[in-house]
Amino acid sequence: MSPPFPKISGKICLRLCVDNQSINIEQEIKRSQKNSTNSNQMKAMVLTGIRRIEMAEFPAPKIVESTDVLIKMKVVGVCGSDVHYYINGKIGSQVVLYPFPVGHEGAGEVMEVGSAVTRVKKGDRIAIEPAMPCGECDQCKADRPHTCRKLRFLGCPNQADGCLTEYIVMPEESCFPVSDILTYTEAAISEPLAIGLYAVNQSIPLEGATIGILGFGPIGMSVLLSAKAKGGNNFFVTDLVPERLQIAKECGVVYTGNPEKTNVVAEVKAIEPLLLDVVFECCGKQEAIDQAVELLKPGGKLMIIGIPEFDRWSFPVDQMRHKEICVQNVRRQNHSLEETLELLESGKVDAGKMPTHRFPFARTREAFDLVTAYKDGVMKAMIDFD
Ligand SMILES: [Zn+2]
Ligand SMILES: [Zn+2]
Repeated sequence: MSPPFPKISGKICLRLCVDNQSINIEQEIKRSQKNSTNSNQMKAMVLTGIRRIEMAEFPAPKIVESTDVLIKMKVVGVCGSDVHYYINGKIGSQVVLYPFPVGHEGAGEVMEVGSAVTRVKKGDRIAIEPAMPCGECDQCKADRPHTCRKLRFLGCPNQADGCLTEYIVMPEESCFPVSDILTYTEAAISEPLAIGLYAVNQSIPLEGATIGILGFGPIGMSVLLSAKAKGGNNFFVTDLVPERLQIAKECGVVYTGNPEKTNVVAEVKAIEPLLLDVVFECCGKQEAIDQAVELLKPGGKLMIIGIPEFDRWSFPVDQMRHKEICVQNVRRQNHSLEETLELLESGKVDAGKMPTHRFPFARTREAFDLVTAYKDGVMKAMIDFD
C-alpha cells in the first residue's frame, strides 16, 4: 500500500488494513484512536481494490477558498454507483485509482465557513449537493451544470474524493441548509430523490398517465415518490427483490411483478391493454429495456436512468419505429435538489420507507457487501457517523 492518497495533501499517518475479513474492525478503530493523538487527523473509508474498502486516517481538510465550507459528516447513503466502483473498480470510462474515498449522498453540520460565505453559517444542518460544476463552460452557461465539461463530483474517480470521511470541504453552492423538520437521513436521501424528481420533470405530465418503473431500488423508488408528488397514481413496478416489491405495494402501486418469476409484460397488458404512457428504466438491465419497449404505447416515452454494467444497449428497431418511441437519457439531476427538499419538508414526499439498514461508519464494508448482494431485502443502507 504505497501510493499516497491522490488530491489530498499531507502524509498519511496511519493506514488500517482490514484485508483479512476476520480482523475485528472495532479493535482496529480503538487501536487507531490510541495511536491518533493529532486532532487534525480524520478517518475515511477508502476503496483499495476490487471488493476492498478500508478505514484509513489522514489530514482533515481545511478551508482554503473564501467560499469554502467545512462540514462534519453525519449521515451518508450507500449508492448503487458506490457499489459499482466497489465491485468493478469503474463505471464505464470512470476508473478508480486506488486508494480512493467514495460516497456522495451526504448530510452534515457546518463547522466553519470561509470569509465570503453567505449561504450557510456555523451550526447549520445541510444536505450536500455532490456536483461541483465549473460555472464557466458552455454547458454551465446553458444552465446545464450537471453536464459541465469540467464537472467535479464527490466520490467520482479523477474528480473529487468522496464523503465517507469524518470531515469534508465543499463550495458554498453545494451546501443546502435544511429545516429542523428534516432528519440528517432525509437530507442525505434528498440526493437520490432529486434524481428521481429530475427524471419525472423531464418525462411527461403524469396526472392520469400510466407509468412503468422497471427496477425498484432507491432510484426507482425516488421516481415513484416524486411522480406521486406530481400527481401520478397509476404505477406498474417490477423488481427481482420481493421486499422491494412489498415496499412498492405499500406505496400504493397498481401492479408489482418479478420478471424472473412471471411474464410481467403479459400481466401488465392484461390490466392495461392500451399499454403505458411512460416507462422509467431504473435498473440498467437489457431485459428491462426490452420489456419497456413492449410495454410502451405508440408515442410513449422511455426514460433511461439505470447504470448498465455493459457498454451498449440494444433496441428492437422495428417496434421502436412503429411505436415512435421517444428515448431520453437522464444524467443525475439538474437544479432539482431545492424542490426535493421542499417536497420533503412539506410532506408531499415521504421517504421514510427508503432507508432499510443502518451501519456505524466503522462498519461501512458490511453495508457495501449487503448492498452488493441485495441481501436482506435492502433498499438503501445508511452510514451513521455519530
Ligand atoms: Zn447516488
Ligand atoms: Zn462547467
